[in-house]
Amino acid sequence: MNRAVSSLLTRHAARLGSFCTSSSSSSPASEAWDGRFRLHKPRGQHLLTNPRILDAIVRHAALRPGDAVLEVGPGTGNLTARLLASPVHHVTAVEIDTRMVEAVTARAAALDLVQKLTVIQDDAVEADFPEFDACVANIPYGISSPLIAKLLFGAYRFRTATLLLQKEFAQRLVAVPGDSEYNRLAANVRMVADVKLLMDVSKRDFVPMPRVDSSLVEIRPRAAMPDVDLAEWLAFTQECFGQKNKTLGAIFKQKRKVLDLFKRSQRTERRTGDASGNGIILGVIDDSSDVACSGDDGSSDRVAGFSEEQVGAFKERIASALESTDLAGKRPSKMSNDELLSLLKLFNERGIRFQ
Ligand code: SAH
Repeated sequence: MNRAVSSLLTRHAARLGSFCTSSSSSSPASEAWDGRFRLHKPRGQHLLTNPRILDAIVRHAALRPGDAVLEVGPGTGNLTARLLASPVHHVTAVEIDTRMVEAVTARAAALDLVQKLTVIQDDAVEADFPEFDACVANIPYGISSPLIAKLLFGAYRFRTATLLLQKEFAQRLVAVPGDSEYNRLAANVRMVADVKLLMDVSKRDFVPMPRVDSSLVEIRPRAAMPDVDLAEWLAFTQECFGQKNKTLGAIFKQKRKVLDLFKRSQRTERRTGDASGNGIILGVIDDSSDVACSGDDGSSDRVAGFSEEQVGAFKERIASALESTDLAGKRPSKMSNDELLSLLKLFNERGIRFQ
């Protein structure tokens, strides 16, 4: 048994042992919140207490015997108890709050399943995850974007993630080109994974009741990763979706954008690798918090060491690349990833770089 878990058990099992043993329900352990400690809304501490929904999540996750499962934010263990009771090999739960770490550990002990559980007390955005086959979680909604970015653009290889998310976020995630919600998050996630809405979950199924409803989503990483430098792709979609309803022709004509791309394209040092550095990726896949570029801002069109003619020639290069396709009049919000990718490849072939 993991030493940290075992010491937690010794210290807290007696005190918290009754947490789930008093249950009279037929579920693996009680979901009822006994008010033992205060739940912190800013930490997304809304416990899912409807046993029917909890069972459905585990069913949808289609776990296999022998799976290593990752859970983010186990809370008091309502979902964890079911994951542990399934035939999976092991569950690793990453939880930031000591009180929850203690509660979920005691609950697993009371179910006599603690040998199947490792609890990592850490921020799930920062922590290193062990290898896992499936991620199943009712996560704190505040970390949805960075967590999905970490799962999909980090170094992890897994079969499936079944995540309960805020309903509006889930709808943005599964949106397709042309939908009003279509956005950078959806384009980026679709680049590397298939996503599917599995079911909606009412806010009434949580304690305390949040303001928003939820949806369960399945994210399946593609078996074959696209032939593209992912960091370059993410930087490109950031430029396109910052003003997703403008035409590409209008977006890439702006003086500030041209200058910015000129500088980036001149850089001899390129970021290389598999885009797994969290610093580059986290928070970059989603445009929900972007401030749209307001277009020409009158800033100087000089770049140290380069003449205005060189910048002008670069602007021409962008325009002619766009003209050579029929994409200049298209808006990113209505474009497929194949179209966006073909444009990125053309730009790159012509020395126009985004990161
Ligand atoms: N999955 C449980 C609890 C959901 S509440 C259930 O369905 O009942 C969300 C949980 O995530 C809380 O326990 C909260 O403490 C934890 N949490 C919040 N921010 C976190 C972070 N950055 N990393 C890991 N856990 C976090």
